[in-house]
Amino acid sequence: MAKWFKGDLHIHSALSPCGSLYMSPRAIVEEAKKRGLDLISVTDHNTCDNLVYVEKVAHEEGITLIPGMELQTEEEVHLLAYFETLGGALAFKEEVYPYLPDVKNDPDYFGDQVIVDEHDNIVGVEEKLLINSLLLSLDQCVEMVRSYRGISLPAHVDRETFGIINQLGFVPDYLGFRAVEISRAITPQEALSKWPELEGYTLVGSSDAHYLDDIGAVVTLFHMETPSWEGLRGVLEEGRGRVNILRTSSSRSRGVVGEFP
Ligand SMILES: [Zn+2]
Ligand SMILES: [Zn+2]
Repeated sequence: MAKWFKGDLHIHSALSPCGSLYMSPRAIVEEAKKRGLDLISVTDHNTCDNLVYVEKVAHEEGITLIPGMELQTEEEVHLLAYFETLGGALAFKEEVYPYLPDVKNDPDYFGDQVIVDEHDNIVGVEEKLLINSLLLSLDQCVEMVRSYRGISLPAHVDRETFGIINQLGFVPDYLGFRAVEISRAITPQEALSKWPELEGYTLVGSSDAHYLDDIGAVVTLFHMETPSWEGLRGVLEEGRGRVNILRTSSSRSRGVVGEFP
């Protein structure tokens, strides 16, 4: 029997320079648990080295982790990439990493980029600045995600910075996206009235949390058999199941704001 499951599939950890240092794997998962989330995705900019630890805590806490990343393409478009397995995400990261320009992070200016284990110990520092565009086009990124049997979807399409509509003027049909993410600044109704062409896509909403308090501020309710990769793929790629975007009390408005078949 299919049920509604609550997912926040766009969360940054302390590895993203813009993410709070309190965003450790343990803190993220515990906060997600407190908010009643069934599935989460931690999507750091152009990398995913904290996922090993997020996975451990998520497993302990009974939350499904969808391994993910937020890629920044050559066109300055943010693209969410989701993978079935942690191994798949890590292998994908290894392939993408050489395309990240060799620019050193300045932690005082951009923020720290730390790898934190499941006990909140800092176990590594990422030296390359992660918030840069990969030397890969959007088309290349989509193709590479597919070659790892992952799912990609444009992030926060309504946003002026790094949103696909502002950067390219439209969502290219030929890339075959079935779903797009809207930011928490906009409701599905507002997005559809501004860009009627989004009607053909499944709209998902996530918090894009950089701070603990923001986790679950917007979630997507997925109607599926189990909170799993298979369930998610069914909804995002095969149009099976249904989706609702839900805003919680810490976001701009309350309640269910839209339903999409
Ligand atoms: Zn983004
Ligand atoms: Zn983000």
